[in-house]
Amino acid sequence: MTESPLFEACPLECGAELETTSINLPEGNLKRCTSCGQLLSACTASRYDESMQEFDVPEGTLPSEQNVKRLHKRVGNNLKQAAAILGQPASALRLLDTGCSSGSLLHVASEIGFNVAGVEPAPQAAATAQKAGFDVFNGLLHEAQYPDNSFDIVTLYEVIEHLTNPLELVREVYRILKPGGLFLIGTGNADSWSVDALGSNWSYFSIEGHGGHISFFTPASIRLLAEKTGFLVEDIQTKRICLAERGSTSAVSYRFKKLFAELMALPARWLNKGHDMFIILRKPDSV
Ligand SMILES: [Zn+2]
Repeated sequence: MTESPLFEACPLECGAELETTSINLPEGNLKRCTSCGQLLSACTASRYDESMQEFDVPEGTLPSEQNVKRLHKRVGNNLKQAAAILGQPASALRLLDTGCSSGSLLHVASEIGFNVAGVEPAPQAAATAQKAGFDVFNGLLHEAQYPDNSFDIVTLYEVIEHLTNPLELVREVYRILKPGGLFLIGTGNADSWSVDALGSNWSYFSIEGHGGHISFFTPASIRLLAEKTGFLVEDIQTKRICLAERGSTSAVSYRFKKLFAELMALPARWLNKGHDMFIILRKPDSV
């Protein structure tokens, strides 16, 4: 008997049909919600589980050495922006990183001065963060049972694209954030020029390369997610585009496309067509 696909309906509960796109992947063509535009993997539940297992290693989902510096800078800027919006010094703010893996964001945040905690379901990665001295709960966010209104900032980097039920997690984040608190999300942008140019060759779509990537957001589907969970959209930024993956084309063509992508990076940012998406949602102030 063939196993049914992981997604039979849009996880944002649009209730609309899923159409098959021309983005062809080994587990089947990506599907698109005809209402919100969310792109969804055609993989089965067992393929998904298997791909998530591959990532429970002590070093966690840390980026490669050369990307660590860039990540620190990017995340550090995001966190400083959040503290500025809240108008308080980092030392007065309590931050929770959801899906903290072995703790790379916790290191950045604690260096800035935030009071940090983390949640991580993968045992080995969580243990690495705990050994570094961080307060990390090994399990799923709802299992941690944080009291209502516990945190000023909750972060969720490179996690939301792994979730079969994003609404459930986002509602839990809403509950544990203080009124006026900020929810920071980092993910890929499925409505980017990178996707237009690369289609199925965009590495972000690969469940092989990125274990568990199954659900791909756009600025529009993020707005819907916020609307359905009671959050206000404070900011959606996108950056960077990629027009060719290294090795997929001749060296000359790759260099030309890389240069062109650098020229297009600024307009992509203006038009929200970059492939790195950073989102700030805000829980409304209590009345
Ligand atoms: Zn939808």
